[in-house]
Formats: sequence, C-alpha cells, structure tokens
Amino acid sequence: MDSRVIGVLGGGQLGRMLVEATNRRNIKVHILDAPSAPAKQISAHDSHIEGSFKDAAKIRELAKSCDVVTVEIEHVDTDVLEEIANQGVKVEPSWKTLQLIKDKFSQKAFLGRHGVPTAESVDLGVTEVEEVKEVGKRLGYPFMLKSKTEAYDGRGNYVVKSEGDVEDGIKALGARPLYAERWAAFEMELAVMVVKTKDGTLSYPTVETVHEDSICKLVYAPARRVSPATAKRAQEMAEKAVGAFEGKGVFGVEMFLLKNGELLVNEIAPRPHNSGHYTIEACPISQYDAHARTILDLPIPKEGLELRCPAIMLNILGGKTTDSHVDIAKKADEVGGATTHLYGKGEARKGRKMGHITVTAPTMSDAEKRIQPLIDAVDEQSG
Ligand code: ATP
Ligand code: MG
Ligand code: MG
Repeated sequence: MDSRVIGVLGGGQLGRMLVEATNRRNIKVHILDAPSAPAKQISAHDSHIEGSFKDAAKIRELAKSCDVVTVEIEHVDTDVLEEIANQGVKVEPSWKTLQLIKDKFSQKAFLGRHGVPTAESVDLGVTEVEEVKEVGKRLGYPFMLKSKTEAYDGRGNYVVKSEGDVEDGIKALGARPLYAERWAAFEMELAVMVVKTKDGTLSYPTVETVHEDSICKLVYAPARRVSPATAKRAQEMAEKAVGAFEGKGVFGVEMFLLKNGELLVNEIAPRPHNSGHYTIEACPISQYDAHARTILDLPIPKEGLELRCPAIMLNILGGKTTDSHVDIAKKADEVGGATTHLYGKGEARKGRKMGHITVTAPTMSDAEKRIQPLIDAVDEQSG
C-alpha cells in the first residue's frame, strides 16, 4: 500500500473516476466536496472533508491530511493553494498553472508567449456595446464572445453572428469579465491528453471530438480521417503547450484543425478531461491512473498510453425526463463492447453530464456501427 494520501478539490465525476483508479492501487484519496458528491459515494472513510472546494478554510483543512493536493476543476482559489504550497504541501499541478489556466484569456496570452498558436483573442474592458461592435469590425462575424472565468460546457460562450447580436451576447453572459475570440472555421476538433511528469511530457493518441451546442458529445479514438502526420503534429503541439506550464498532472488539450491543415489550441484543462474518458477502456493506463501516478512520481511506461483498440465515447446528458439517462444506460447494456459509466448525480437537469458510454471494437467502423443506436437514443432525448 502506498501510504501517501492524495487530496482532491472537488468530487464530481472526474474525482469519482480518479478514485476508481486509486482504489485499485490501494492509494487513499481525501475529497473536499459535499457529503453526497459522486467521488465520495465510492470511497468510504472518515477523512473526507465536507464543504466547498471554493472555501479557503476547508482547503487548508484538507491540505493538513494530505501529501499532495490536486484538483478536478480549475475554478479554485489559487491564493490558498499558493499559501499551502509555501507551507510545504505539494500542489500538482502548480497553483501558478491553475491561476493561468482558470482565466481563459490569460491562458491564451500565456500560450501565445510560448509560441503556441490560438485563435486571435481581444481583451474587453468594461464590455460596452459600442466597444464590442468595434471589436466585431476587426474580427469579423461570426465571432465568439467568451467569459474569461468560470466557463465550462459552453456556458460562458456566446456566438455573435452580427452587430445586432452584440447586446444580447453581453446580457446572456452576465456581469463577468469577457473577451472576444476570432471564429475558427475548423474542419474538425481534435484533443490530446498529455501527461506532465517530473521528467517531461508524454501523450495519449490524437482523438477527434464532436461538440453540440458547445458541449462535448462524442470522442473518436483515434481521430478518423486524420493523417498520421497531422495526428503527430497535434500530439507535438499539445506536448509543447503543456510543457510550458509548471507542475505535474494530466492535461486535456483541445485543438481546432482548420481547413488549411493549420492547428490552433482552443483551450487546456489542467486535469483529467472528458476527451480522455476513453482511456479507461482503451489504454493500459487510464488518464486517471496516469494522473495519480505522475503526481506521486510513479513510473509511466509510454506503451501504457497507447490504444489497445479503437474506441468511441458518447456523453449522456440530462434529457427530456429526470431519468432519461438511465434509459440510455439500459440500451447500452445490449450493445457489444459498450461500457457504461453513470456518475451518481441523482436527478438529471437538461444538458447536465450524467454519465458516458465507451464502445470499443476491433475496427473503428465496427465501433461506429455498434454505437449508432445509442447516438440515435441520445438524439431522441435531446431533441
Ligand atoms: P469545456 O467544457 O470544454 O471547458 P468551454 O465552456 O470552456 O468548454 P470552449 O472550449 O471555449 O468552451 O468552447 C466550446 C466549443 O465551442 C468548442 O469545442 C467549439 O466547438 C466551439 N468554439 C469555441 N471557440 C470557438 C471559436 N473561436 N470558433 C469556433 N468555434 C468555437
Ligand atoms: Mg473550458
Ligand atoms: Mg472546451
């Protein structure tokens, strides 16, 4: 048994899948979140901390019982993490990395300084309608109005299609600091999970992600219809981007592949990521196992990150009824090669991530055939 203890800020589905991986290794994890949080449901001991991962006092309390503190979400108080790091508690990845990444605009500026291409982004001061219209002239329409902070599942994004949309966009995103981003007319979206270790970076294969209404819907591993050269370029760009940040951990790198073959980094998540769920079934070392290993300085043979077989991951969102996600899971029981993950979130809200299904098969086209009835069922629920 590894006697070291990992502390996690947040106990949602990512924390839950991290605990699934650490349970198998006899590694103890203390979660800071509400008592019924998904991660706590599968980890019975008295050392979890009850409270919000945004509460400084609770973070200090968690740190006291842990050897290394990590996060399942980047929207955290990095000042407290800096404080506990200064007192000798390991924080991985570094609080500096979390601070840079949790503000999407500062993240993009940082990537730019390190030679990683991103969509052109313009800082908005007080977000006056006229100012944003001026920016619209410069970026052209459509462009994306984005919240700098607290953004996930597209909830901080607004597509501004014309000057007439500017006012609605500002209203929709509320009184948050915003920035504007040039539209990326992408051919497809790619993602790479990168593991940052004490020695450097390693990457999982390049996968293709499909988003609907700005929420990840499907992940194809490996990416379909992408040349080996492009897949390699994406891995290299992802490793370069993650290599620029301090600390250890897994990182999800989302990218746009433009029609001219150019790659842009969309954003980076400093933690396990939706686009890496497929690794649980498709790779010897899952992204969760890799995260635990790297923050504890345990070995990660690079073969452990290779695909054993093609895989497709389908997210299950809250649908028309409070338990429509359970109906989808039942359908998946009949599909060969399907593994279902429900997150223990209770009643569904529309659009909330309730679970996911990964289908593996000897070939990608077999996997596509197998998963199609489940995609149809998900479309029916969301329609
Ligand atoms: P996540 O849940 O991945 O953290 P998020 O809320 O941070 O999502 P983004 O990753 O910024 O949102 O955007 C979500 C999706 O919206 C992207 O995957 C892409 O499909 C689309 N999108 C974002 N920015 C642009 C852009 N500049 N041009 C075109 N499409 C975009
Ligand atoms: Mg994001
Ligand atoms: Mg994203």
